[in-house]
Amino acid sequence: MRNQLKELVRKIKEIYPGETPVPLHAPRFLGNEKKYLTECIDSTFVSYVGEFVSRFENQIQKFTGIKHAVAMVNGTAALQMSLLAAGIKPGDEVITQALTFVATANGIVHAGGIPTFIDVDRDSLGMSPTALKEYLSLFGERRADGTFNKTNGRRIFAVMPMHTFGLVCRIQELSTICKEWNIELIEDTAESLGSRFNGNHTGTLSRACCLSFNGNKPVTTGGGGMLLTNDDKIAEKARHISTTAKRKHPYEFFHDELGWNLRLPNVNAAIGCAQMDRIEEILSNKRETAETYKYWAQSNDIDFITELSGTQSNYWLNAILMSDKVERDDFLLFSNENGVQTRPVWTLMNKLPMYKNSLHGSLANSEWLEERIVNLPSSVRLK
Ligand SMILES: *Cc1c(COP(=O)(O)O)cnc(C)c1O
Repeated sequence: MRNQLKELVRKIKEIYPGETPVPLHAPRFLGNEKKYLTECIDSTFVSYVGEFVSRFENQIQKFTGIKHAVAMVNGTAALQMSLLAAGIKPGDEVITQALTFVATANGIVHAGGIPTFIDVDRDSLGMSPTALKEYLSLFGERRADGTFNKTNGRRIFAVMPMHTFGLVCRIQELSTICKEWNIELIEDTAESLGSRFNGNHTGTLSRACCLSFNGNKPVTTGGGGMLLTNDDKIAEKARHISTTAKRKHPYEFFHDELGWNLRLPNVNAAIGCAQMDRIEEILSNKRETAETYKYWAQSNDIDFITELSGTQSNYWLNAILMSDKVERDDFLLFSNENGVQTRPVWTLMNKLPMYKNSLHGSLANSEWLEERIVNLPSSVRLK
């Protein structure tokens, strides 16, 4: 292991003084969280009906510029609802990336879909447009009613890229390919609240997308998620089926289809409102930390992963690349034993027991990255 990596552990303790061990990503409650929680409890509206839910939805709607926001119990549920409301049918294929958190693939399966996995780009860590083109030219067959997988006859319903650690992938190219093939684009934006390309929020090009407000995400509600869409019908459908498909009526109970109970409770939304009050502060604090890492890495010959030009990452989780797996393992052990939490990237989806028989393209970049990525502590710094 290089000496600079030992130096990095000292540097991280300097960036996050007084936290032992330095956590990978700790939530911070520095605003009105307690005040809003008290208001929420005093109001007695603690479930999904309540003022904080709509306030939180409005805050996210305004911040992202996406027309509709529907709060859900978690990001996985929001992902599942995005696909269902957009019209996925049982057995439809959804193309996603092998390098992602398991929730992406699970959400697809929970919506009745079959996930297939393609490669990512080495620089963006997100879905590779080249890999998507290759996959579609190999397996895709255009018909009047959509694109089908010619090896098994499944409809290819959607492409689901993910913006890894908040870094924006080549989403405009992916969107163009989806249009050419007449396939829905549904982004997993769970990690990319505040990440933009040419000023547009990630998810803007999608039929629908999802956010996560889990405890480790840049904005948290404890647990929570949100579906975002510019499509009026999808928003209405998602709201309906995630609220037991109950027809609006002051007192009668009539449910017109199979529904779910997946809406975010008002208690959680109260925390979210307080977090969103400070979103600009959170993002600039995280950017400053990323700049500190980047500057240090450059002068120490360490490969720090930065946003592509024309894009703006929220730098949810900072990441560096090791020279090989041996060095990665040495550094993970050394840093964790010396009071700094670091971690490797997720195991590729096609290597997990439930997805090991899935169809996938060449995963050369994903495999290369899987051996080398290390995430560094990235919480908002306390000042
Ligand atoms: C966090 C996350 C989700 C959603 O997770 P929940 O824990 O269900 O909120 C989905 N996809 C990715 C890539 C994530 O990182």
